[in-house]
Amino acid sequence: MTLVAPRRAKPARHLADLSMAERRTAVAELGEKAFRADQLSRHYFERLTHDPATMTDLPAAARERLATELLPTLLTSVREITCDDGMTRKTLWRLFDGAMVESVLMRYPERVTMCVSSQAGCGMNCPFCATGQAGLTRNMSTAEIVEQVVAGARALAAGEVPGGPGRVSNIVFMGMGEPMANYKAVMGAVRRMTDPAPHGLGISARNITVSTVGLVPAITKLSAEGLPLTLALSLHAPDDELRDTLVPINTRWKVAEVLEAAWEYARVTKRRVSIEYALIKDVNDQEWRADLLGRLIKNRLVHVNLIPLNPTPGSKWTASRPQDERAFVRRLEEHGVPVTVRDTRGREIDGACGQLAAATPAE
Ligand code: SAH
Repeated sequence: MTLVAPRRAKPARHLADLSMAERRTAVAELGEKAFRADQLSRHYFERLTHDPATMTDLPAAARERLATELLPTLLTSVREITCDDGMTRKTLWRLFDGAMVESVLMRYPERVTMCVSSQAGCGMNCPFCATGQAGLTRNMSTAEIVEQVVAGARALAAGEVPGGPGRVSNIVFMGMGEPMANYKAVMGAVRRMTDPAPHGLGISARNITVSTVGLVPAITKLSAEGLPLTLALSLHAPDDELRDTLVPINTRWKVAEVLEAAWEYARVTKRRVSIEYALIKDVNDQEWRADLLGRLIKNRLVHVNLIPLNPTPGSKWTASRPQDERAFVRRLEEHGVPVTVRDTRGREIDGACGQLAAATPAE
């Protein structure tokens, strides 16, 4: 496991790294009037453009300077693949230093969800997750995280996604990486996503889900942010013996501790915590485990999201049999625990949970 990301050269500073106050300072330092920061923010967060030629309310020279200094290209699209008639779209991005990440846009009748990466690779080493197998390359910057959403928002606004022009309504930190291991950059990104336009994208915090393996100190910190984010806890086993192997960070913070941190999060934020549980055939899908899970979490502000295991390269594990999945659901329901089985959008393009490996396309 790698909790602290390797030190690497940092991506260029970008508007989306900065709070409004920091943007005004940065603009002033470039010799421009501070209110130009507001104009630039409007172009980026509201009009979703980074093309200086269209920023006609800015003097030509200022435009170029501000765009060069504050809107550097951070993400280059390497490949896009779609499925579900274009409603699911996975993008492979190259970062400035060659690191690769992926994001997934999923359009539903009532919402558009962007699944974003927070790290290039991941240090958590969960054996059933493709991202975990290659290890951690580096943390992403706040702007690199935000840019994934802005790119999706831009494609939607331009009508590039079937269904007509639309907006990003939901964000899940369920792409590559462990968001709570890159806390500062992730919280910066959350602020940019939730700040009302033109300061940010104006997305409701309730519609943003941060998914974590369970880094207890970070969950505790998150509880105190005063933001009604949805917390998703990747539990995958109710007992330490199995969870130690499925989610190796469990050797550091045990099931009881991580659940305690989750209840604390629910108490402080009044938000229902989502327990993620990938159902793996004959590994964690026994009825007695459902029963144990039910006993651990009943009567709490909680919801269980069962994820049929998505296939990953080289893994010997597969999704549970349908009858075992049904029995698992039933057992949880007997404890009065709300439970849903997640759809596996993007499975055929390796864009579903745990499948993001950012492999360079095999041409
Ligand atoms: N590191 C964070 C966020 C990324 S993964 C976390 O672990 O929570 C998003 C979700 O997909 C997690 O719940 C993760 O456990 C789950 N997942 C990983 N591999 C999977 C697979 N092969 N099939 C189904 N879900 C998987």
